[in-house]
Amino acid sequence: MSNEIDVKELKKSLFSEKKNAGALLCDDDINKADSFCENYKKFLDFGKTEREACSYSEKLARENGFVEYKSGMNLNAGDKIYRINRGKAIILAVIGTQDISQGINLCAAHIDSPRLDLKQNPLYEECEMALFKTHYYGGIKKYQWTTIPLALHGVIIKANGEKVEVCIGENDDEPVFCITDLLPHLAQDQMKRTLAQGIKGEELNILIGSRPFKSDDSSEAVKLNILKLLNEKYGIVEDDFISAELEAVPAFKARDIGFDRSMIGAYGHDDRVCAYTALKAILDCESPQKTACVVLTDKEETGSDGNTGLQSAYLKYFIADIAEALGAKPRDVISATKCLSADVNAAFDPTFPEVNERRNAAFINKGVVITKFTGARGKSGTSDASAEFVGEIRSLLDKAGIIWQTGELGKVDMGGGGTVAAYLANLNFEVIDAGVPVLSMHAPFEIVSKLDVYMTYRTFCAFMGV
Ligand code: MN
Ligand code: MN
Repeated sequence: MSNEIDVKELKKSLFSEKKNAGALLCDDDINKADSFCENYKKFLDFGKTEREACSYSEKLARENGFVEYKSGMNLNAGDKIYRINRGKAIILAVIGTQDISQGINLCAAHIDSPRLDLKQNPLYEECEMALFKTHYYGGIKKYQWTTIPLALHGVIIKANGEKVEVCIGENDDEPVFCITDLLPHLAQDQMKRTLAQGIKGEELNILIGSRPFKSDDSSEAVKLNILKLLNEKYGIVEDDFISAELEAVPAFKARDIGFDRSMIGAYGHDDRVCAYTALKAILDCESPQKTACVVLTDKEETGSDGNTGLQSAYLKYFIADIAEALGAKPRDVISATKCLSADVNAAFDPTFPEVNERRNAAFINKGVVITKFTGARGKSGTSDASAEFVGEIRSLLDKAGIIWQTGELGKVDMGGGGTVAAYLANLNFEVIDAGVPVLSMHAPFEIVSKLDVYMTYRTFCAFMGV
């Protein structure tokens, strides 16, 4: 008998065990997590594109006492500042009491999500229907984007330079748009295509109208009618699409999932779930020891290239500006900086267990996922955090009583994916990935657990000393 108790004790002290946060947390903490997620759902609904997420973040920042930072401004401990990059990315910082040469604590998330961009000559009429041609952005399973309601968001720059903002399909009294698909009765050839080819890129055409303009000249009367409506509403002509960025995104709103309302279904959890939790953490940051910083970047889903992606110098320049304002050498600050690459990881899906290696997969409700490395095959394209830095983050999380787990994106040879971690590490930061496990990642409607969202927020708070 006594031997049996010893084994139990021994197992308890030696085995690794990750439990469901729903079983570990008290009701009070569960309620806090649930109410935290109410504002997260608003963030999702108001910020479906990088531009909208950026301006909504700016609004929240200003409401919380952050001011726009211009080069040359004096800085003091406790100052709360932000900088916008081209309306598509935002950096926020709270100046710490410690010498900034000791480094910054930075959280980096992205606010772009997979979607369908309109082509530069999008509008055409075929068989008296008007449609938009699209070019998908980021990694999508194309068949998922047909026969769902789509909204159109973005900007149009007119010939005179005027910027027109577009957001249509979000309010219940507004129309939505849709990509059609074949009826099963006539899909016998289509059904023989592979899933990847089931819907092809050039078949992602959005239906936008079908009623002709009444006139004697019957050619392209439906297209004419649409352009007339667009001209009345936005003052645009067909050529204005050339200088536009219009993004078709799912028109549905964030909703609770499950009888227990334990999860949230929404478009664009990847990566607005880490963007919001990091943003909220820095908004709650009063006077940290180390300077705290959050960057919400664009273009992660297409490889982080471009002047609003994290391969651009904009983050480095911002850090250099504040370093110089505080009398420090930029490269000392950069080299001492520690960073959480705040991005989602794949959650284990019991319907598709074969793609994961269970012992190293992330599960919903088991807390924030710490990912030591990303990449594909032999860790190609990863920064691979050091054991020392993983050890540091591990003890930080344990001390703060945060529920966390490790995760690896699928089986070794199954595929893979990267985050901005590698680009940040290339600047000479210490970097590790931390974020929320997501079901159906990159689908028009992704799922996360509310408790994981809250644990991720608490992770960013602990990391930035909130
Ligand atoms: Mn992501
Ligand atoms: Mn992604």
